[in-house]
Amino acid sequence: MDSITIHTSTNQYQVHIGQKIRHKVPVFLSKHYPSILIITDSVVADLYLEDVKRSFSSEQQIFTAIVPAGEASKNKDCFFDLITKCIDSSLDRHSLIIALGGGVVGDLAGFVAASYMRGIDYVQIPTTLLAHDSSVGGKVAINHPQGKNLIGSFYPPQAVVYDVETLYTLPEQEIRSGYAEIIKHGLISDEVYFEDIIQNGSINKLSNSILMDHLLKGIAVKAEIVEKDEKESGQRQYLNLGHTLGHAIEAELGYGAITHGEAVAIGLLFAMKVSETVYSEDFPYQRLKNWMKKNNYPLTVTGLDEQALIGRMKKDKKSKNQKVQMVLLKSIGKPCVHEVDDRLLMELLHKFLR
Ligand code: NAD
Ligand code: ZN
Repeated sequence: MDSITIHTSTNQYQVHIGQKIRHKVPVFLSKHYPSILIITDSVVADLYLEDVKRSFSSEQQIFTAIVPAGEASKNKDCFFDLITKCIDSSLDRHSLIIALGGGVVGDLAGFVAASYMRGIDYVQIPTTLLAHDSSVGGKVAINHPQGKNLIGSFYPPQAVVYDVETLYTLPEQEIRSGYAEIIKHGLISDEVYFEDIIQNGSINKLSNSILMDHLLKGIAVKAEIVEKDEKESGQRQYLNLGHTLGHAIEAELGYGAITHGEAVAIGLLFAMKVSETVYSEDFPYQRLKNWMKKNNYPLTVTGLDEQALIGRMKKDKKSKNQKVQMVLLKSIGKPCVHEVDDRLLMELLHKFLR
């Protein structure tokens, strides 16, 4: 088992990564909690809820809440129902919330924990590959009909218990989605790590040791960045590589049409193209594209209106004065935020989407 410690302005927590650790959650808690609410989704409940429940002792009161699987559950009604569940279960400031699931459950349950009684303890038990990104860093949120993650908070967990054995039940599309964020972590941090991912990473033939290695490094990259910039005023923006176009594609296609990571993968390729143009630097664009092709990523999306995409990119959190700001790479491991001129963006997008 491996552990990575993260220091925040309000606490210090550990990310534990190992096999079968969902069976011994209390080992990773620094306190005894008399009452616990486990929040999970309808798919994960059938697979792992019993294991987590059984890891607690019989004198602890364990409550459960199951939300429908999928992004739609990050809404105000689910949030409010979960708060009601906390009240009905008489949770208080000595209680614990457990988020058992992917990024959706992590964000939703984390926001419930951040809001109920102005904040009670919570623990993340991520069960998707993408959640190596979402469970670390303390960002929790629900969606507004007008935009993703518009209602939320920075609220670090007490611990992250990442049982990688749960990843083996993931559908291939979800592994593909999570691996895109691993590639992002490689691109923004270190050429050797990136090369290792595109040489040895495989969606179809998941090797335990390679996956563990890629995952651990991805978490370490994320941990290092969020520690330096907890509230996203500087470096944390680099984690947005591939997301300016990725989010625009997700929004244009309608959420759920493509996974978040698949949209980010397209965004990563595009960010490399823009970086090549702006910094006259050679990037392993073709090799990354080949890796994505081999692993069945959608490499482009036809039928999207370029102007509409640019409009969406301007709504990104980083944009200033109606100008698109993208995270680019000066070279692998050297990310930066760069304002990209509308005309150049249009030209490159036009070529890229053909
Ligand atoms: P998800 O939570 O919807 O999980 C994807 C699907 O996999 C769901 O249907 C789920 O039921 C199923 N599933 C989960 N674990 C499983 C398992 N072990 N076996 C089989 N099926 C399983 O999606 P996600 O991709 O994990 O997360 C996406 C969400 O994460 C988005 O809402 C995004 O905004 C958020 N996110 C947050 C942050 C952050 O910093 N807070 C970062 C990145 C993404
Ligand atoms: Zn992402």
